[in-house]
Amino acid sequence: MHITGRNSAQHRSVLLPLRTMTIQEEAQAISDQFEVSPAQVKESVREFRRLMKLGLEETGHAMTMIPSYVTHVPKGSEKGTYLAIDLGGTNIRVCSVTLDGEKGFKIQQEKAAVSRELMTTDDPSKLFHFIATRIKKCVVEKLDAKGEYKLGFTFSFPVNQTGPAEGTLLRWTKGFDIPAAVGHDVCGMLQTELDKMGVKVRVAALVNDTVGTLMARSYVSNGNGSLVGAIYGTGTNGAYLEKMTNIKKLGNEAQHENMVINTEWGSFDNALTTIGNTPFDVALDKLTPNPGNQMFEKRVSGMFLGELLRQCLLTLSTNAPGLGGAGLFSGQTLTQLNQPWSLDTSVLSMMEGDNAEDMAVTSTIIQKELGLTTSVPERGAIKQIVRAIGRRAARLAAVPMAAIVISSAAERTDVSIDIGVDGSVVEYYPNFIAMMRESLRDALDRRAEEVNIEIATDGSGVGAALCALVA
Ligand code: ADP
Ligand code: MG
Repeated sequence: MHITGRNSAQHRSVLLPLRTMTIQEEAQAISDQFEVSPAQVKESVREFRRLMKLGLEETGHAMTMIPSYVTHVPKGSEKGTYLAIDLGGTNIRVCSVTLDGEKGFKIQQEKAAVSRELMTTDDPSKLFHFIATRIKKCVVEKLDAKGEYKLGFTFSFPVNQTGPAEGTLLRWTKGFDIPAAVGHDVCGMLQTELDKMGVKVRVAALVNDTVGTLMARSYVSNGNGSLVGAIYGTGTNGAYLEKMTNIKKLGNEAQHENMVINTEWGSFDNALTTIGNTPFDVALDKLTPNPGNQMFEKRVSGMFLGELLRQCLLTLSTNAPGLGGAGLFSGQTLTQLNQPWSLDTSVLSMMEGDNAEDMAVTSTIIQKELGLTTSVPERGAIKQIVRAIGRRAARLAAVPMAAIVISSAAERTDVSIDIGVDGSVVEYYPNFIAMMRESLRDALDRRAEEVNIEIATDGSGVGAALCALVA
């Protein structure tokens, strides 16, 4: 019996007599559901372009298309010393960046932990005073203390940006909870503390990490500046250079030719019209605090691929009889496998990269992460599923790139078709960029060869410094 297509595994197990499929057949049936055909890539690109246009015309769409107020991408000749800070989690990073004007730079940085107390204080000025102290320390210890410096502030929380260095905090995430700061301008709160301390630093740019990635790549790229900055890490999102005349929702604000747009593409196709929906995606979505949202991100980024694998292994362990009548993991206690979020995406990377015949690395990982023993054929079946999940992620990950390249092609000759990427998934998942390229070819045919994709490191350092420079 051969089963392909998008039937749900649960559905099938009801229709078929139990224990008719081998582990290999079941793994094949699961993997097939993660297939993204060339036609589906093309359809997704069309849908992405439709949602881009909508988000540029009106506010209130899930794929928000946020204007960054950055109006140029660097070409490599920018010069000078700038400061950058990155507040996005439990650490604050303070950097001084010296750009040499020839695509080179020197960066000095220090990290400091943000205490639990500051993350949940009643008084926001305490947090911003702490940040200002770290900035002062950097200026005094690493730079000419009499100098005046511009600073780029990478702030990875939801803000409503209203100018290059102006944005009100919408809500805190990631364990921060300082209610009195919500609704206030984050750059203003930092500037106030810097001024009180007499530090001659001006907060010149409020920076989203995707915009920083685009700027950092654009500075070092060989061409004419870059078009897209994309992140595939914990989450996924991207920024690109757009013509002001297309950003209809900004009305008459158009005093510049271009502006970088932060797409918030993690929310692409929340309606699930083109990106597909397996029973494993459905189960995962139910476990999240935001069901129905960030649906593209839930198929592509590091936070979710491990859990998708866990969902598949659960199905495989219930549905497949395996060899000699013994199911996957048969007779073993599945305590850890039954635990949501118990698998990290780095596990998929390690298994994908395990090319030994006995898959000894995979054996060790499954033992360590799930406390389960496996046979070689079982590991083969698991690897097939890993590859299917990773391949779908990469093929979908190229959809926004293709859409932006097509949309820009008609009216853009001033920047290269150059894309900077950042994040552990794109950096460490084996062949991720090669699989993205296959998908790009499905969408763009021969034009795909013109698209240059490079890892862009340090968007929140160099990129934020560059945002301060162009602001
Ligand atoms: P952030 O997105 O927070 O800036 P990263 O870019 O490092 O940080 O992404 C972290 C995400 O990448 C996590 O979800 C983690 O599971 C995943 N990850 C970490 N290591 C790897 C790896 N080797 N291969 C694939 N994914 C990884
Ligand atoms: Mg990151």
